[in-house]
Amino acid sequence: MGNILNNLKSLTKKSKSKMVLCVVDGLGGIPHPDFGGKTELEAARTPNLDALAQKSTLGLMVPVQYGVTPGSGPGHIALFGYDPEELVIGRGVLEALGVGMELQEGDIAARANFATKNAEGIITDRRAGRISTEECQRLVQRLQESIQTIEDVEILLKAGKEHRFVMVLRGKDLGDNLQDTDPQKEGLPPYEPKGFDTLSEKTAYIVKRFLEKAEGIIESEPRANAILLRGFSKSPTLEKFPERYGVRALAIAIYPMYKGIARLFGFDTPDVEGDLRNEIELLKSQWQEYDFFFLHYKDTDKAGEDGDFSRKVECIEYFDSLLPEILSLSPDVLVITGDHSTPSLLRGHSWHPSPVLLYSPYGGVPTGTRFTERECASGYLGHFPAKALMSLMLASALRLGKFGA
Ligand code: ZN
Repeated sequence: MGNILNNLKSLTKKSKSKMVLCVVDGLGGIPHPDFGGKTELEAARTPNLDALAQKSTLGLMVPVQYGVTPGSGPGHIALFGYDPEELVIGRGVLEALGVGMELQEGDIAARANFATKNAEGIITDRRAGRISTEECQRLVQRLQESIQTIEDVEILLKAGKEHRFVMVLRGKDLGDNLQDTDPQKEGLPPYEPKGFDTLSEKTAYIVKRFLEKAEGIIESEPRANAILLRGFSKSPTLEKFPERYGVRALAIAIYPMYKGIARLFGFDTPDVEGDLRNEIELLKSQWQEYDFFFLHYKDTDKAGEDGDFSRKVECIEYFDSLLPEILSLSPDVLVITGDHSTPSLLRGHSWHPSPVLLYSPYGGVPTGTRFTERECASGYLGHFPAKALMSLMLASALRLGKFGA
């Protein structure tokens, strides 16, 4: 794909049109031998999606690259029209977003574990006996109360599940090119914090000071008397979605990680609890305030990861049952797709392309009778990189001008 996709700003036009991107997480599947050789979309009863498919253009999207299985991070980066191979959001940053921390540009985030070490400083349990989440919260709170800054760097901590927590360093000129302190194996001492360039040396120094102080505070803990850090990464500086596309953008997601990714891109991300029904209520209540709506539905992916074909089918049917609520808003462009496939046969994310439905009077030529992988494979939109979805949506919303004279 040429560079124009990275420079759509030069083509965007003002418009009152409204766009909705529904990401049904892990939507795509492959035929399952135990279920009549059907995919989950094929097995689901989806009268509303079928009717919409007959008025929409269909296709298949490659999330990142042929044969490459993406995480949800790269999957969403591509859906937002950014290059998922160039813009990498590191593990620590994703983890921080996943526990609901609000990151600023330049923050350094790392995944942290409580661990057990013996008198010789050797790690005997990398997970501190899997202490409970409540125990972890208590310890993290104790650490945070005693350690707020080290020199000019702010230290932010947040507990995750069991022995896990997240550490964020906020300050000037910090690098993220650091060696993990987690030796990944028991029977070894933790590695020393070490930076591989000048800015990262400063980070390593702060981390070292943090570990000295923190391990002093927890030294009498029977199990959680050590801390291991890994996945140091910097919150990226990027062109924000609203500026890039000239839209007011709202993200509607229940899970913190998706909300967090959207927030990095400059979406507004109000809290919403409950399920898809509550998400759609929020969509309705905010309809006049925004131009672009990203609506994330997680349950399909969870069912696929559990290898639960029938539950994934039910999730798709539930989405179908609520689709009329979205259509009642009369969006100018509505896209329904996934961030990657999660076939229940594989019990995890996969490299298979995502089925995509684009509904718009200007979307192109409808070819299908149902919204399934098979029908999408012969759809008008063909097979295209997910990164190109945004330009198709904007064009269908009549928000892109001509390229060249
Ligand atoms: Zn996903």
